[in-house]
Amino acid sequence: MPVSQYYQPNFSMSQVQKLYEGKAKILYPTDDPEILLTQFKDDATAFNAQKRGQIQDKGEINCSVSAALFEWLESVGVSTHYIDRPAANQMRVRAVKILPIEVVVRNIAAGSLCKQTGLPEGKVLPSPLVEFYLKNDELGDPLLTRDRLLLLELANPEQLEQIQAMALQINQHLSDFFNRCGIILVDFKLEFGLDSQQRLLLADEISPDTCRLWDKAEADPKARVMDKDRFRRDLGQVESAYQQVRERVLAQIARWRS
Ligand code: C5P
Repeated sequence: MPVSQYYQPNFSMSQVQKLYEGKAKILYPTDDPEILLTQFKDDATAFNAQKRGQIQDKGEINCSVSAALFEWLESVGVSTHYIDRPAANQMRVRAVKILPIEVVVRNIAAGSLCKQTGLPEGKVLPSPLVEFYLKNDELGDPLLTRDRLLLLELANPEQLEQIQAMALQINQHLSDFFNRCGIILVDFKLEFGLDSQQRLLLADEISPDTCRLWDKAEADPKARVMDKDRFRRDLGQVESAYQQVRERVLAQIARWRS
C-alpha cells in the first residue's frame, strides 16, 4: 500500500481540505479515492450537542480503542472499514457511503430504553435487543420501526437482514472481549457503510463514546460507569475512566496476540 503525504503522522492536517467534520471526528481525503483518513477529536458532545466539552486525550484513546477492536473483529470474520492507524489519533479507513441509520444493540437496560419504557436500569434483557435510529440531528435521531426504515429506503430488506445479523454477531464477540477485560458491555451504537463494490462494512468507531461499559468489579451504579455517561451525567473522572478502558482493551489485545 503506497503511503501518501497525508498518512504521515507529523503532516499538518490543517493544510488538507476536510471532506467532513462531525462532532467527534474529521474526515480527510487521501490521494487514493478508496481510502479516507479519520482524525479523532477531544471534543465531547451529548444530548444532541446541547452539552459540549472536551475530554483530555479522548481523540487518541478512542482511536486506539477503535483500531484495536476493529482489528480484533476482522480476525473473527467481521468486515470493517479499518485499514491502519498512522498516528495516535488518526485512522485510515476504506471510503464507504454511510447508511443514515444508528444501530443500537442492548444487553442490559439503560439510557433511552429505560426513559422510554420504564424498565429499571440494570435489568438484564432476556436476549440482545437490536434497534434502529434515524441518523438525523435535526429530527433528534428518532427510533425507527422496520417498516419506517424500509419506507424511507434507508436500506433494502436484504441489507437490513445482514445488518441485524452482523450487529448480533458483533455483540457476541464484543461482549466476550469486554468480559475478559473485566467490563460489562451494556449497550453500544454501530454504523455501517457500503464500499464501491456495495459490500456492507462496519464503519465509524467503537469506543467509550459509543458504548456503555460497566466495571464488573464495581456494584455502585455511579462508580461502575466507564464510558461517556460520566460526561453526560457529570459523574467526574471522565479522563481516567477512558484511560482505564484503553489500558484494559490494549492489555487484552496483547494477551490475544501472544
Ligand atoms: O441513549 P441511548 O440509551 O439510546 O444509547 C444507546 C447506546 O448508543 C449508548 O451506548 C450510547 O453511547 C450510544 N449512542 C451513540 N450515539 C448516539 C446515540 C447513542 O453512540 N447518537
